[in-house]
Amino acid sequence: MENDPALLLSLLTNPKGEETPMAKARILILGGGFGGLFTALGLSGAADVTLVTDEDHFLFTPMLYEYLSGEVEEWHIAPKYGELLDNDVRVVQDKVTAIDLNSRQAILEKQTLNFDVLVLAVGGITNYVGVEGAEQFTIPFRKILHADQLRRRMVDTLDHIPPDLPPQDVRRDLTFVIVGAGASGCELSTKMADLLLDAVKRRALPGEPRVLVVEMGDRVVPGMGGQIREFVEEALRESHVEVHTRSRVVNVASDSLTFEHEGVREQLKTAAVVWTGGVKMRPVIEQLDVEKTSRGLLAVRPTLQLTQHDNVFAVGDIAFFPDATPTLAGTAQLALQQAGLVADNIKALVAGNELGTRHFEELGEALSLGTERGAVLMAGGKAFGGALARQARFALYTSRLPTWHHRLRVGASWFFEGTAPRPLLPLGLER
Ligand SMILES: Cc1cc2nc3c(=O)[nH]c(=O)nc-3n(C[C@H](O)[C@H](O)[C@H](O)COP(=O)(O)OP(=O)(O)OC[C@H]3O[C@@H](n4cnc5c(N)ncnc54)[C@H](O)[C@@H]3O)c2cc1C
Repeated sequence: MENDPALLLSLLTNPKGEETPMAKARILILGGGFGGLFTALGLSGAADVTLVTDEDHFLFTPMLYEYLSGEVEEWHIAPKYGELLDNDVRVVQDKVTAIDLNSRQAILEKQTLNFDVLVLAVGGITNYVGVEGAEQFTIPFRKILHADQLRRRMVDTLDHIPPDLPPQDVRRDLTFVIVGAGASGCELSTKMADLLLDAVKRRALPGEPRVLVVEMGDRVVPGMGGQIREFVEEALRESHVEVHTRSRVVNVASDSLTFEHEGVREQLKTAAVVWTGGVKMRPVIEQLDVEKTSRGLLAVRPTLQLTQHDNVFAVGDIAFFPDATPTLAGTAQLALQQAGLVADNIKALVAGNELGTRHFEELGEALSLGTERGAVLMAGGKAFGGALARQARFALYTSRLPTWHHRLRVGASWFFEGTAPRPLLPLGLER
């Protein structure tokens, strides 16, 4: 795709008309997740790159479930940026509050940064779809601190159950609800159920925990094929997860949840409600006056440039890229693949070369289902499940972690130290 000559000229001059040598074009990346970090890694050493992030670490979100269960440790999936990026990329830990595309400035909480080329990669936030009490009383599941909060809540609830409580009361007091039966809700519910079942046995409590998944649609993992759904349904059954489809959550309070099925409302006493029900745009993206889709995603060209701004690229969950397999929307897989294209296109842009495009495809799916099983859907469409799939998932994800150095350290740790789950011990014994 042809470069706009006016943009090339503008890259040589800043908004005040002062000359800036091409090699010194300031590339500013906002967000250090899959899209932002991998763009920075692709540009490292080839340009003047600054990465702005509100966290001090990257997060490999697909393994947040294994972090909850203690199968992996924080350093495995949430390495600090300092370990991943060398001195060629400047990392600024701060929060972007506004972006002025015309004056080419990003306004952060502590400073303002100028840019010549901008990469928008701030990802999405949890969408509570206006359900009363959801934002206030549910736990989202997107960050390390959410997993810590959820694990603490499970331990705390278990610690408060007297050993002689009747089994039906144990079940009532150990009721956990996960909202949304997409891949995230199914992975999380089976993981929580296995951990709680194990803890109830270890503590010799009577009865069982009750873990429910509540889903508006008519099936679990609606975006996935029938083959992998069979493994998911089997795992939900084996982990004793209660699945409620065609059910709508109408209200959440500090210790209860109300949902509706076929016009009938039911209220449950809950120990915790976890919200995995969707993603929406952040205010900093909502405020941008550029072309967007009806869902508020940024419209991008095949080169991943915004439609009206040649020097601004968007990647990952906030961008609508038409030439991708539909099931890839809102996935790390897509953000990762797009990051490679953006890095190449930025190099082309500042060198005055043609920008390119790519078609993005499914690289395969790997789900973690409880603490013993997994399910893998290979790129060719073949699926398999069970303990072997769990192992395959670890192997696959080792290869997708950022940087060779980190991959090697983590791979060695999983190989030599194992990946057994860490039981939910009483609070004093938890680490
Ligand atoms: C629990 C969980 C499990 C998932 N599992 C899978 C999976 O198995 N497979 C898969 O393909 N996808 C999975 N996903 C989806 C995947 O994580 C996202 O699609 C992917 O992270 C999108 O990448 P991104 O770069 O757009 O945004 P993100 O990875 O979310 O990165 C955004 C970055 O921007 C930073 N940021 C945000 N706002 C600001 C601000 N104002 N100022 C500065 N920095 C900011 C954030 O801290 C973050 O580092 C999962 C998501 C979750 C939450």
